[in-house]
Amino acid sequence: MKTILKNVALNGNKTNILISNGLFEDCNLPDSALESIEAHNLQSTETQNMQSTDAQNLQSPDAQALASPGAQTLASPGAQYGEYRIVDLEGTAILPSFYNTHNHAAMTLLRGYGDDTNLETWLHKYIWPYEAKLTAADIRKGSQWAVEEMLATGTTFFNDMYFEIEQTMDLVERAGMRMCVGITIMDLHTPQQHREKVELIKSWKDRAEGRITAAVAPHAIYTVSKEHLQEAAQLSREYGLKLHIHVAETKAEVADSLKNFGTTPVRYLESLGVLGENVIAAHCVHVDEEEWDILARRGVTVAHCPCSNMKLGSGRFPYELAIKSGARITLATDGASSNNNLDMREEMKFAALLAKVAGNPELLPAECVLKWATRNGAEAFGINGGTIENGAVADAILLNLSHRSFLAGHNLISDWVYAADSSAIAATLCNGQLIYPAAAVSAARR
Ligand SMILES: [Zn+2]
Repeated sequence: MKTILKNVALNGNKTNILISNGLFEDCNLPDSALESIEAHNLQSTETQNMQSTDAQNLQSPDAQALASPGAQTLASPGAQYGEYRIVDLEGTAILPSFYNTHNHAAMTLLRGYGDDTNLETWLHKYIWPYEAKLTAADIRKGSQWAVEEMLATGTTFFNDMYFEIEQTMDLVERAGMRMCVGITIMDLHTPQQHREKVELIKSWKDRAEGRITAAVAPHAIYTVSKEHLQEAAQLSREYGLKLHIHVAETKAEVADSLKNFGTTPVRYLESLGVLGENVIAAHCVHVDEEEWDILARRGVTVAHCPCSNMKLGSGRFPYELAIKSGARITLATDGASSNNNLDMREEMKFAALLAKVAGNPELLPAECVLKWATRNGAEAFGINGGTIENGAVADAILLNLSHRSFLAGHNLISDWVYAADSSAIAATLCNGQLIYPAAAVSAARR
């Protein structure tokens, strides 16, 4: 089945978009092509009308969220014309969905627990003791909450680092999202647990038709020994996986690194041969100019988490140095316990404002921070996504243009980054499939 998004606004122009096999096949389909498809396949109109009425009668909260004209049409399985499903999205605009490059999804369970402390107190006094008691069923519940929140806020991919990963992967597969699952390495694991992780890395095969990939995830330099860091780097390269790690998050981490290893975190990782193009380094708050050059030269991707860094009092991301270095910068929420949500649109606004607060309002304009949150994140994981163009994966959000934030209508990107909130999202698509809101999804599958 091919899907055509009819009358949707793209870059300020109304157009028709053809999606085929999970990819945007034609983002500028002429009306004449659409008319000829409709003219050749008139027989199904009756069914379509019946199903639309049915969808409007849905009583769930999700159905109520389908207030915009575009989203209302999405609640029907679409008008079916032969192999084409045509959905009229008049009144909506299409933008790339989010790629959240550093998350601990099931930490939604710890939201609001251990607030208003620094990272060290938060981890030792609250998080690690709590996590030690979590069961697989708990992780499933927390992951479910996280998946629902991400879909409602327009995220279709996240890079995760946690445990009981089967639970999270199963929910992601069912939801139709994408993820990179971290196979976590920590010194506190028993030798048996460590062996099992290594086995999983060696036998890893992507899942959910390639939507679920994996990373070797040594937690940080202060929780993973030199030997395990080097082993993780070697395994990740040998088996073609990402390496996901927390780096230079706090001043205390840098001070401990100087004391224990005689050098700073980035230089330490460089000396161990860990840094490379497959590395996703979360935070990088306390990184000097020379270290930024190392990260850029090695092709490391940085996952910037402004809300988490501010909430834990970790510090301001050095935007000036980071941007100047040319390193790939992406955006992320971190877990919901240090944020305290998984809303990437909020993350864009906080990043842009935190960049400017030092006195330069020209730093990190809306278009740039949107690219960090979308295209850059996709690229870091080898996904041709985060953009609405022919050949890219069809991961997108549809914004309801009658939402209060867009009424002045001067600049959609500016409105999305600075003014709106996720209530403006009429629908979320991943891999060409409608995956939010739930009522529309079930209607489309009927
Ligand atoms: Zn983290």
